[in-house]
Amino acid sequence: MSNPLFSWQADAWSQLQALGTRLPHAFLLYGPIGTGKTVFAEHLAQSLLCEQPGADGHACQQCASCGWFSQYSHPDYRRVRPELLDEEEASNDPEAEPVPKSAKSGKPSKEIVINQIRALADFMNISTHRQGRRVIVLYPAEALNVPAANALLKSLEEPNPNTVFILVSNSLDKLLPTILSRCHKFPLGMPAQDQSLQWLQSQGVSDADMWLAQQGGAPLAAFDMAKSELRGELEDFLRQLSKPAADGSLKIADKMQKMDMPVTVAWLQRWLYDLFSYKQSGRIRYYPRYEKELKALAMRADSDELLKVIKNTNERQAISSHPLSAKLFLEDMLLEYSALFE
Ligand SMILES: [Zn+2]
Repeated sequence: MSNPLFSWQADAWSQLQALGTRLPHAFLLYGPIGTGKTVFAEHLAQSLLCEQPGADGHACQQCASCGWFSQYSHPDYRRVRPELLDEEEASNDPEAEPVPKSAKSGKPSKEIVINQIRALADFMNISTHRQGRRVIVLYPAEALNVPAANALLKSLEEPNPNTVFILVSNSLDKLLPTILSRCHKFPLGMPAQDQSLQWLQSQGVSDADMWLAQQGGAPLAAFDMAKSELRGELEDFLRQLSKPAADGSLKIADKMQKMDMPVTVAWLQRWLYDLFSYKQSGRIRYYPRYEKELKALAMRADSDELLKVIKNTNERQAISSHPLSAKLFLEDMLLEYSALFE
């Protein structure tokens, strides 16, 4: 019996198995980003379709159904996610499933759009191939745009017998209450630190504790960052934040304008969090290796001003996906930050 789950998911798996045959028709798995929720969701889907699951409920990995599942070709299974995620996976993995090209434009969408939900309605109208269940995994649920969410709501309101929806979400507060109320909410919380560290070390990540702290305790996010090509950019960025100055801000804005803005803004948000947290309670959460610099800066910044910058930066995050000019966007943000210490 093979079990692809992460060690920190064992308890959640047992709790789910305890539901027995009283399976809800729609699950909503939720928890922090970067902790392996989609692995859990897909394994659950495979197990629900497996013809001979083990006593612990895990898929057997050997039956015809498991074979199709692992080839992405199970006729009674659909995975729904933004086109952009397919594209990213395909670019990282030569054996990933083929990417359907968007009919309208060349740019892959970050949203789950209504056509994807309409295609599900067709899928649910044909009888299942194996005369069993039909399973749909959808993530992240907050990527559903409003028309798509409303279309999905219909399927959730009038559940098709034998169909199980598994929605995955990083932030419940971004979901429509009507969606929330029709799903069985199932938490997948932040893993314990020792389990995360053990896993990171088993993956060959050095400085595992540093990366884990920086990603707020989320092990997969820590792994991605540790292995990421962005490590250099992150270091440049943090070095600049640790020595705030107007001219340096302009230079780094110029250098980093091609970066994914939400990522860059999140780096600053964590840095600001550390400054504020140090001022309030003497604790540093994300960037302990910059403790010395953070302490010195925290002394220099005025609390009210700092709060204002935190609020503004949170607002910038909300619009960071589509800045008119990435360079100006970064300049404004970094100049505002460095003005804190003048
Ligand atoms: Zn199986």
